[in-house]
Amino acid sequence: MAGALGLLAGKRAVVTGGANPRGIGAAVVELFLAQGATVAVLDQAYPESAGPALAQGRVDLHCDVSQAASCEAALAHAAQVLGGVDILVNNAGIVAATRIWDLEEDEFRRMIDVNLTGTYNVTHAALPALLESTRRPAIVNLGSTAALRGGGLLGGSHYAASKGGVISFTKALARELGPRGVRANCVAPGIIETDMTLGKFGENWEQELKQGIPLQRFGLPADVAQAILFLASDLSSYSTGIVVDVNGGFHIH
Ligand code: NDP
Repeated sequence: MAGALGLLAGKRAVVTGGANPRGIGAAVVELFLAQGATVAVLDQAYPESAGPALAQGRVDLHCDVSQAASCEAALAHAAQVLGGVDILVNNAGIVAATRIWDLEEDEFRRMIDVNLTGTYNVTHAALPALLESTRRPAIVNLGSTAALRGGGLLGGSHYAASKGGVISFTKALARELGPRGVRANCVAPGIIETDMTLGKFGENWEQELKQGIPLQRFGLPADVAQAILFLASDLSSYSTGIVVDVNGGFHIH
């Protein structure tokens, strides 16, 4: 992204799952800061701490998105430190390739708990602040190509179901919250080079996969972050309930 355009100047953002420096969340945080936002980064990896303050535009807060109480506490803290919330990015997530014949109920439930209930928990906790915002509030959720093409390469049916749920949840949010001034949209990344995917395919399969992608490469976290910036910023002011594919043409539908 060229130059500091300040697309998010004056906006206060919450981004979940941003602790992994090689992940999509970290790329979102970096881009949002560069575009003038202040950012609360929520992740289970951060230690629980009584009262971290804003430093260089960001505050890092412990949050396990699968636990409603943890989300309520983190959002209360974020809204207080930032002075409100205008943007929410539900990025935290897990993946597993377990096929249906090996899938136990506990693993299925855990996937739904983190990816889908986690998106609900954080959204619900952020809602009072988002509804109070007078700065064109927006929610951006992380779906996946896996939800659109019948499962993923590295994601099993439980992952696909959780991300399909996130996409449906987002569309319903758009309908319910539009009249109250809040937009809600989704990105659906394809294969992105993060710890979720790196080194997971093996050399031969990786080459084969890349040859099948029209843009001939896997995506980078920054590719996804740029699409999220579009949906979080006023650039997408008349878009709500949409799913933006970020997959290099891997899935065209
Ligand atoms: P990473 O594993 O790099 O990042 C996910 C982050 O979420 C980590 O920091 C992780 O923390 C955190 N996290 C996991 N569980 C919880 C939880 N219960 N509470 C709070 N934080 C949690 O993954 P990616 O950057 O690749 O993925 C980001 C999002 O993009 C996910 O929703 C994923 O499903 C989606 N996506 C990714 C694709 C890809 O190819 N990479 C493709 C399609 C969608 P910790 O490290 O401590 O577990």
